[in-house]
Amino acid sequence: MAKAWYPVIDYSICTACGICVAQCTHGVYDAKKAPTPVVASPVLCVDHCHGCGNRCPVGAITYVGEDTEWTPPNSASVQDEAGCSCGGDCAAKKTVLVEYLYLDLNTCERCIGTDQELKEVLDTLAPALALAGYTVEYRKVEMTTREIAIQNRFLSSPTIRVNGRDLCAAVAENDCGCCGEISGTQVDCRVFEYGGETFEVPPKEMLAEGILSAVFGEKGDTQRDTDYEMPKNLRSFYDGKQNKTECGCGGGNCCG
Ligand code: SF4
Ligand code: SF4
Repeated sequence: MAKAWYPVIDYSICTACGICVAQCTHGVYDAKKAPTPVVASPVLCVDHCHGCGNRCPVGAITYVGEDTEWTPPNSASVQDEAGCSCGGDCAAKKTVLVEYLYLDLNTCERCIGTDQELKEVLDTLAPALALAGYTVEYRKVEMTTREIAIQNRFLSSPTIRVNGRDLCAAVAENDCGCCGEISGTQVDCRVFEYGGETFEVPPKEMLAEGILSAVFGEKGDTQRDTDYEMPKNLRSFYDGKQNKTECGCGGGNCCG
């Protein structure tokens, strides 16, 4: 009788971070579809391995054939692992997934500034989180195309997510001259509200507090953006960029 053990993805929770695809060394997932996890060869899955499920920061993976007490991470408490017979790096790990999604790191001052602040905060927090048994996974993705933005359910630039949740409770934006320059159209980008003030680059305190509360604070439901629709603002940005490319002027006055 064929073995029945393989991962099942709950796509209503999955944030398409790609960690599970990167984690599995057994060819279960279709690498060409990454970061979206597509279980292409379930038969290759190692019996009773929970490797990808243990790494999923939002608890989106369960297993056909599950007959242990294993619980997906971030849904409650994990960490007593039934074990994997593959001998690879499939042991239980507590993962903090930090995602940085942005439009541009060449021109946009707020994307560049946020990138620098976030890096410094992560460099400081990572050793402390490691002491508490957490591995920080950092996923930094430039939203170069409309397709990548849709795949990542991108709402506003820049976006920082911790374990699938936006660090900001809501989207607030103002006019971004830099992204306007890139696209030749008026574009609003994100501002960060913290301590009664509004910042175009989030202060380190805000980032540290947001990351630590996502890890150690109350765990709300993972945001489920199943009804994602790209905001008009971003559509204008990508349309403007495309017009500039097709025009070939390199951003001259004709596209402004
Ligand atoms: S359970 Fe293990 S072998 Fe199966 S897909 Fe996940 S990491 Fe790969
Ligand atoms: S959220 Fe979980 S299931 Fe989705 S890609 Fe990331 S690790 Fe895989």
